[in-house]
Amino acid sequence: RADHALYMAKAAGRGRAELDGGESSELARDLAAALAAGEVQVHVQPVVEVASGRMTGVEALARWTHPRLGPVPPERFVAVAEQNGLIGALGEHVLRTAVTQLNPLRRAMGGSLGLGINVSGRELTDPAYPQRVRAVLAESGWPASDVVLEVTESLLEAQSSAAVAALHDLRASGLRIAIDDFGTGYSSLSRLDALPVDILKFDSSFVATIATSPRRAQMLESMVGMARALGLSMVAEGVEARDQDAVLGLVGCTYAQGWLYGRPVPPAELVARRGRTFAAVAD
Ligand code: C2E
Ligand code: MG
Ligand code: MG
Ligand code: MG
Repeated sequence: RADHALYMAKAAGRGRAELDGGESSELARDLAAALAAGEVQVHVQPVVEVASGRMTGVEALARWTHPRLGPVPPERFVAVAEQNGLIGALGEHVLRTAVTQLNPLRRAMGGSLGLGINVSGRELTDPAYPQRVRAVLAESGWPASDVVLEVTESLLEAQSSAAVAALHDLRASGLRIAIDDFGTGYSSLSRLDALPVDILKFDSSFVATIATSPRRAQMLESMVGMARALGLSMVAEGVEARDQDAVLGLVGCTYAQGWLYGRPVPPAELVARRGRTFAAVAD
């Protein structure tokens, strides 16, 4: 009986794996075609200065609508791209599309606009990656110092030396490095100190309860203090409510991002909103 149950569980697992495998290979094939046809889009979400509510930069977020399955979550198609050798093409497409479509916004903002680009592990450890990034920036005229590469703690834990070397290389070219989803990984603070990092992006799970839990607000305040002591900049992610924004102001978190200030939208939509504070945006 126990053997039979185990057999059934294994068979069910295998069936699911086969289904997933089938869907993944369909996605991989269609993603390759979509990239070649320029159908993967880039949306941008404002990053604002908490004190003034003014937009200082954006994060680029990839968007893909599959003809049969509808919108595919980025985490899903990024994983498919990583597993099927498409991540380099995806990342290059997102960077080139972002700098091209955001140039009008950058000019409208007097030439300065931060641009966050998410980078995955396989992409960063490709020896050709740093040079590819420099080539796209050179061809578009986008200043390297206005680009922030967002990497996760887990990426740096898992793929340490090659990834860290690539980050040093890119940072020497003037790009800045952010640790994305900070606070969710297990890297020690002493390790953080050894990494080439400029910005901490506090994960949305910290922000979610800062307005209702004094302990969480205290934790965030400690993270803010640590960032400041290390000379790092900081962004709170996933800010959805005004009372969360108020706590960020109280604990001295400098920058923030979230639905409160603006959802990810096509770049052209941000040009009209550029000068407004978040209060005006929320109206
Ligand atoms: P991330 O880099 O941490 O991006 C933040 C995610 O939070 C985005 O999800 C964004 O739409 C969402 N978000 C922003 N504000 C709020 C809010 O106030 N509330 C809530 N609930 N969510 C908010 P998205 O666009 O689904 O992207 C998910 C992840 O996929 C990203 O997490 C990033 O890790 C990855 N990703 C997206 N685009 C790319 C890309 O071009 N390349 C790579 N390698 N990864 C990407
Ligand atoms: Mg990010
Ligand atoms: Mg994040
Ligand atoms: Mg994330």
